[in-house]
Amino acid sequence: MEYEAVIGLEVHAQLLTETKIFCGCSTRFGAAPNSHTCPICLGMPGVLPVMNRKVVEYTIKMALATHCRINRENSFARKNYFYPDLPKGYQISQYAYPLAEHGYVEVEVDGEKKRIGITRIHMEEDAGKLVHDEYNPVSYVDLNRAGVPLIEIVGEPDIRSSEEAIAYLRRLHEILVYLEICDGNMEEGSFRCDANISLRPRGEDELGTRAELKNMNSFRNVQRALEHEIKRQQYVLEGGGQVVQETRLWDDSKGVTRSMRGKEEAHDYRYFPDPDLVPLIISDEWIEEVRKTLPELPLKKRERFILEYAIPEYDAGVLTASRDLADYYEETVRLCRKPKIASNWVMGDILRYLNEEKRDIKACPVRSIALAEMINLIEDGTISGKIAKEVFEEMWKSERPPKEIIEEKGLLQITDVDILKKVINEALEADPEKVEQYRSGKEKLFGHFMGQVMKATRGKANPKLVNKILIEMLAE
Ligand code: ADP
Ligand code: MG
Ligand code: ZN
Repeated sequence: MEYEAVIGLEVHAQLLTETKIFCGCSTRFGAAPNSHTCPICLGMPGVLPVMNRKVVEYTIKMALATHCRINRENSFARKNYFYPDLPKGYQISQYAYPLAEHGYVEVEVDGEKKRIGITRIHMEEDAGKLVHDEYNPVSYVDLNRAGVPLIEIVGEPDIRSSEEAIAYLRRLHEILVYLEICDGNMEEGSFRCDANISLRPRGEDELGTRAELKNMNSFRNVQRALEHEIKRQQYVLEGGGQVVQETRLWDDSKGVTRSMRGKEEAHDYRYFPDPDLVPLIISDEWIEEVRKTLPELPLKKRERFILEYAIPEYDAGVLTASRDLADYYEETVRLCRKPKIASNWVMGDILRYLNEEKRDIKACPVRSIALAEMINLIEDGTISGKIAKEVFEEMWKSERPPKEIIEEKGLLQITDVDILKKVINEALEADPEKVEQYRSGKEKLFGHFMGQVMKATRGKANPKLVNKILIEMLAE
């Protein structure tokens, strides 16, 4: 029997607010354990949570960016469970009336576009963190993260392969980062994903029993975990067995998923409305106000780059991977008016150097104004493309403008015809035999003469001119 994989993802994104969702404590990562806490996020009895307005605003942003319907009336619920990192014994979340529902994002896999539905987006608080002692059989609790605002984005089971799952995740990640509402750091846990997966016979409409996968802290691990789990479930089903509804943990070192616990049903959590928080009413005016602050989103930017700069789709994809990179590119083009050449430099040397030094485009030592100037110098023939590579390397190291480097190192391109003729003449006189061979039909030798001239001028000769003069002089 042929099986089809059905995948639905739940994404938790930490919002980039200064303070926590229901108290004024800082959300900063990496502080001394339990230093960012107060009676509210410690879950002391008798305290009252107060909603952080920024959290609502950020969630509205995400809802608008993913074509969701925004519920004007929101409420909060208590999700009850016990765990040592949850001091209140319940998590404040949204249940019956989440902020957003019925959205979608568009993904593309192997050239095929597809919409993946978003069931809902709701706001909730994060739990604390358990820190396990490596040497002693004890664990510590750090509640700095307790009360940090999260949005949970629940996806429809519309995904059919691990590739689609990654495309969907990348799209959500990209939107969150573009909106500047989440830093997207998967390793630090600001962007986390649980993957639900089941198999069913191809052609069947009903959903099979799913397993929920946790503990994957990179895109690659999500993909590996899903691929492993598809094989595992297939093996179980083909052997006549049944998939158990459960939560499984991805074990990165072994490359397998293993059972952690039976999966709870929603009714096990005994959700009920939180009596400490009043219903949250979102006005149309507020939504419109937020809509005005939305930046151009990645897909739109990509389309615009293709149209406005006439660059290939591939280039547009790379250049819009982040807002900062896109801004850098646009600024360069504005100053040199050579979109494709600028794209080649940004995608090539700039990104390669940044990658090698693990730097962000914001910390790029070659500013867009300097790159544009260098492109202009190539275009007006001041330097050759080959010399430009040398100039660029020096610009990167010294952060100086290209003109200064060119003057200091004597790298000006040679465009003086008389000088070039002299050099070419020398090259021809040095090897009369090859000249003879060329003239009697061995045209391949042209490249050899080109090379000799470029070598003699240390790459500074204008190749177009050399080409032209060489043809003339060899014809004599
Ligand atoms: P819970 O919060 O308990 O995990 P939900 O009903 O909210 O449960 O479902 C969570 C996710 O599981 C959603 O993203 C949904 O698309 C996905 N999902 C639900 N049923 C299946 C299934 N049979 N196979 C694959 N994914 C599923
Ligand atoms: Mg779940
Ligand atoms: Zn607090």
